Amino acid sequence: MRVVVVGAGLGGVAAAVALHRGGHEVTLYERGAELREAGTAVVIAPNGVRALEALGAQDAVRGRGLPGGSGGLRDRRGRPLLVTDLAPAQRQIGTMAVVHRTELHQQLRAPLPAERVRTGMPVERLESDPAGVTVISGGTAVRRADAVIVADGIGSTLRGRLFPGHPGVRRAGRLDLRGVLPRPTGLDVAGILAGMLVDRRTGAMFGLFPLGEDHLYWYTDSALSETPTDPGEARLAMLSLMADWHPAVPAVIEATRPADIYADAIARLAEPLPSFALGRVALLGDAAHAMTPDLGQGASQVFEDAAALSRHMAGAEPAAAAERLRRYDAERRPRANRMIAASARQGRLTALTGGTAWLRDTLLRAVPARFAARRLAAIWQL
Ligand SMILES: Cc1cc2nc3c(=O)[nH]c(=O)nc-3n(C[C@H](O)[C@H](O)[C@H](O)COP(=O)(O)OP(=O)(O)OC[C@H]3O[C@@H](n4cnc5c(N)ncnc54)[C@H](O)[C@@H]3O)c2cc1C
Repeated sequence: MRVVVVGAGLGGVAAAVALHRGGHEVTLYERGAELREAGTAVVIAPNGVRALEALGAQDAVRGRGLPGGSGGLRDRRGRPLLVTDLAPAQRQIGTMAVVHRTELHQQLRAPLPAERVRTGMPVERLESDPAGVTVISGGTAVRRADAVIVADGIGSTLRGRLFPGHPGVRRAGRLDLRGVLPRPTGLDVAGILAGMLVDRRTGAMFGLFPLGEDHLYWYTDSALSETPTDPGEARLAMLSLMADWHPAVPAVIEATRPADIYADAIARLAEPLPSFALGRVALLGDAAHAMTPDLGQGASQVFEDAAALSRHMAGAEPAAAAERLRRYDAERRPRANRMIAASARQGRLTALTGGTAWLRDTLLRAVPARFAARRLAAIWQL
């Protein structure tokens, strides 16, 4: 089958490679001048690791699981709210991996031959008829396909064209910063590694994870709703918000070069899409189900999409494209839409302040240690 994939983020490349491996004639269109995933790192939940294995991409996360020690939820000073021993927890609920985004993207796309990729090609429109889909870029028809996979991200223009009545994305009124840095020598981060710290005075959150042997990945979430244009300013704002947290928190933020800090105003789909498939066209990844990052599930859902798509498209003749994409929609939409709602709920829980936050922390502390891993897995929808 001739398949066009629009957008070469993690979702687009995972889907393109899986379909290529499945024997389809794939063409991947990316509006950017080169194939590249910018940014820091990504935490991949156990379900995402399993989806990567199903895609045959297990090498991308091999050796990237969380090491031993403890992890989970802590208060802003690093005192445990709900923590667990990571080694047995991962044996129980699966491996959680932390990977540099650029490296993950490189590994995922490696099996796709260069002649299957078109960069600098923004797709503006798709014209469907019963026999196929015409792909329009730069005002001209650039390709005819039996099926098109739309993976053009949270700001998808094609989603708006396919569902003109859909309200698109909605801002969550929160700002996330992310940074990567070499492990600072002499700084003890063991007490806050592999989990999140929450501050019930402000509703702000800080997460810290090991990235390979010698780097750290951190992220913050706070009620600052304006995206600073300068990462240096963003860093200063976060330092002042977190000055009296566990001492390793401001130390880690301060040690990160502004050039290695990314700021995002958080958004999600305002409403779930009524379908991920319209005839011979299907949506995948953030284009289909952009969610807030509160559960760290965005990329894992993207990989689950790609794995499901490649299964449903296996061996399909061109005439079967719409039926196979309907099956993909039936499998993926209920789960991905639940994740959008669960992520938003988790964001509201994390951002609680005052008495309700005190109650949340008290309940978390009351969970017996032997149930901690299962409880964390339930909270994070693993
Ligand atoms: C702050 C933050 C932290 C996060 N942390 C995590 C985490 O720890 N774990 C996790 O699992 N997820 C996380 N996520 C979510 C995760 O990053 C996304 O879900 C995932 O990267 C989405 O991939 P995608 O391929 O669907 O979209 P994108 O990565 O947005 O890719 C879309 C691609 O399409 C291209 N494109 C756009 N329009 C067109 C067009 N018209 N024609 C051609 N190409 C086009 C773009 O240039 C881009 O390359 C986080 C998100 C944020 C904002």
